[in-house]
Amino acid sequence: MSKHWVYAFKAGQADGDASMKALLGGKGANLAEMSSLNLPVPAGFTITTEACVHYYKNNAQLPDGLVEEVETSLASLEKTTGKGFGDVKNPLLVSVRSGARASMPGMMDTVLNLGLNDATVEGLAELTGDRRFALDCYRRFITMYSNVVLNLAHHSFEDILDDHKDRLGVSVDTEITAKDWEKIIRDYKEMVKSELGRDFPQDPKDQLWGAIKAVFGSWMNDRAIFYRKMHDIPEDWGTAVNVQSMVFGNMGDTSATGVAFTRNPSTGDGALYGEFLLNAQGEDVVAGIRTPQALTRKAREDMGERALSMEESLPEVFAQFKSTVDTLENHYRDVQDVEFTVEQGVLFMLQTRNAKRTSKAALKIAVDMAREGLITPQEAVMRIDPGTLDQLLHPMLDPKADKVVIARGLPASPGAASGKIVFTADDAVRFAAAGEDVILVRDETSPEDIKGMHAAKAIATARGGMTSHAAVVARGWGVPCVSGASEMQIYAERGEFVSRGQTFRHGDLITLDGSSGEIIKGAVRMIEPEFSDDFHQIMTWADEFKRLDVRANAETPADARTALGFGARGIGLCRTEHMFFDEDRINAVREMILADDEAGRRKALAKIEPMQKADFAELFQIMDGLPVTIRLLDPPLHEFLPHTEEDVAMVSEMSGVGAEKLYRRTKELSETNPMLGWRGCRLGITFPEIYESQVSALFNAAVDVLEAGGNPVPEIMHPLVATKEEMANLAAMTHRVAEAVFAARGKSVAYRTGTMIELPRAAIQAGRLAESAEFFSFGTNDLTQTTYGISRDDSGRFLNPYIEKGIFEKDPFVSLDIDGVGALIEMAVARGSATRPDIKLGLCGEHGGDPASIAFCHKVGLAYVSCSPYRVPVARLAAAQAAIAAK
Ligand code: PEP
Ligand code: MG
Repeated sequence: MSKHWVYAFKAGQADGDASMKALLGGKGANLAEMSSLNLPVPAGFTITTEACVHYYKNNAQLPDGLVEEVETSLASLEKTTGKGFGDVKNPLLVSVRSGARASMPGMMDTVLNLGLNDATVEGLAELTGDRRFALDCYRRFITMYSNVVLNLAHHSFEDILDDHKDRLGVSVDTEITAKDWEKIIRDYKEMVKSELGRDFPQDPKDQLWGAIKAVFGSWMNDRAIFYRKMHDIPEDWGTAVNVQSMVFGNMGDTSATGVAFTRNPSTGDGALYGEFLLNAQGEDVVAGIRTPQALTRKAREDMGERALSMEESLPEVFAQFKSTVDTLENHYRDVQDVEFTVEQGVLFMLQTRNAKRTSKAALKIAVDMAREGLITPQEAVMRIDPGTLDQLLHPMLDPKADKVVIARGLPASPGAASGKIVFTADDAVRFAAAGEDVILVRDETSPEDIKGMHAAKAIATARGGMTSHAAVVARGWGVPCVSGASEMQIYAERGEFVSRGQTFRHGDLITLDGSSGEIIKGAVRMIEPEFSDDFHQIMTWADEFKRLDVRANAETPADARTALGFGARGIGLCRTEHMFFDEDRINAVREMILADDEAGRRKALAKIEPMQKADFAELFQIMDGLPVTIRLLDPPLHEFLPHTEEDVAMVSEMSGVGAEKLYRRTKELSETNPMLGWRGCRLGITFPEIYESQVSALFNAAVDVLEAGGNPVPEIMHPLVATKEEMANLAAMTHRVAEAVFAARGKSVAYRTGTMIELPRAAIQAGRLAESAEFFSFGTNDLTQTTYGISRDDSGRFLNPYIEKGIFEKDPFVSLDIDGVGALIEMAVARGSATRPDIKLGLCGEHGGDPASIAFCHKVGLAYVSCSPYRVPVARLAAAQAAIAAK
């Protein structure tokens, strides 16, 4: 079949299917799939993403053949529906919606009720016997089309409507009569004409092409571009356009429109969950203008609502709806997020897609579905986005803390945050850029606010439900959100809101709890979260499936305990210099570094060694039976030399060395390029007493723990090694000190000696290093720095512009540069293993907590990754996913 640009669908029959998301977009592919399942889908057709891509590549020219294909599809649509496009007596009206491969909620454009004009509106009035309804559709169409296609501001139409409402003394749209809608429509059209110098388009074909091009165009609007950046969606995907015959949820009290989730997207609870509005069109639900009603009686009762649920007000349609969404969930084997309309008692499905969900809900849903037998445990593990586990590690309000609740709304997105009140997205961006934590407080949000929403620590809205724009976007990002807190009266222009009789101003501190829906005065104490049974079940499955071990980078007992609690299998990096950050300890290290002879260094080391021994013993005890990799001192000197007069005075007092002399020594030692300077093993080789003292402390600690009945497993790691001679020298020193300690103590402990691979030369020479190194741990922070020749301390300033220009895809210090640094790792793995087949291989740079980098580590056959304690669960999950994906 030759390539075509348009794919049609109608109940029982479709050209496409759910596997064609790349070509038809998510919405189009699922409309086709639902049609094939013979579910009630209004007929229509999808213009492919390829047509959009062609449009952009060819200077906004439509591809050859598209016009003809659309004409043909429109003719079949007329046949299917028995209506005519532009037919004055029996008009076919359509919706025109965007639909990219990945869901981009609200970022692109939609036009509803297209096909209406001064003549067809009369036909619609006659046909439905409801003139008011027809005019209501027409005014909605003019507003939407003018905004989306003709680029006229939405508020100009709102202003006209508000003037009329004031004149008529009514407050809600449903009170406006047909006669008055006529006047409003006349004013709308006059405004369009005076703004544009031409009439509002009356030819339905012109309207249709205007809308199709506008949807193509919306792929490149600011908010879509921003959203794509945030979610790593490539620009060259393009959007599809779905043209579908309209069905009307605003045809009286047996009509309705709504959105639903087959399970609760916030908690994961198994019951059908959603909202609907009687006598309304789709945009009314998401716009948050009217407060929607619950779908089920139980949900209504739980919420203490009086307005009837759909189950109660439209029982038969509800039963059909429930069985339809059950079919969808079983068919897709995942929670569905659906949009539907009821037109005079008849159900229509407008959309289905896999639902976005909070990480808490994702865990519960995955575990429940695996237990129900709908998916396998492997699939359950694959369904959790390791990045979003972070959301679960968010702090919560301390239940014991005092709090003054100032407003209550819906718990739209979990987690808690404190910050200063701002009322506009621009302010949120500005204050966040200045380092302030802000909470964005709005009547409702719209896609224009997206940057401010992202900059804010939390979002509160006075209007809108659980599926309002604010709620959906915040949940997707893991930003806490309370929606529909209608107690707040917001006067954004004055920079204040009033709630429960109190006034809160721009800059005042509040706390928001997205799990309970509370907005609280001031800052409230937070606590660390507890993990659910679902979390533990996913982690248990992950551990069964993964091959990589996950260790932690930790040096304090507290971090080591946290890491163990998060499932770390040992310590992969204990940075010994970090054990000296305390005020009283750092000066001992400074004293050692500044000493200008061996005697001076030994004096300082004598103070340090007992502290080290006690610290090491505690780590061995906590990690009993698990490896603890202790890296010998690697202080880039600039981080440890005294910076202020006060620092020098302290060291002088401790060491008894005059301040003047210390100053001179500081000057002597200061380096132009400390990251490439006298650090790592260069320090240990030039001043052997430093490493000897550390190694003696760690073996004595190991024997102490052994004597107390423990099982210490030390690994001694040498930093910044570049040559075989360095490694041989360091290994010999380590063995010599070990022998001496074991002889003196009459007991010995098994241990390993190895090196970090942090320099390209080390990777290239890995075969030689492995002659004396029993393990390698890839220090990808330094290895990235030295491979690229980019300073890890100063790169921020140019990395962002590089990423914006597309020169770097990602920050290489966050996600491993597989092509460059990765190639060095592969080389080192091969060469090291050739020399020493049982060499132990791990990675301990920051990349050890990054899922994409972890997948690489799995692929090249490392034994473990090591990351910060809070990333351990993320790494365990990512390791399992890498193993499952490789099967
Ligand atoms: C590394 O370089 O990757 C590493 C883990 O060591 P540090 O970050 O301490 O330099
Ligand atoms: Mg390093």
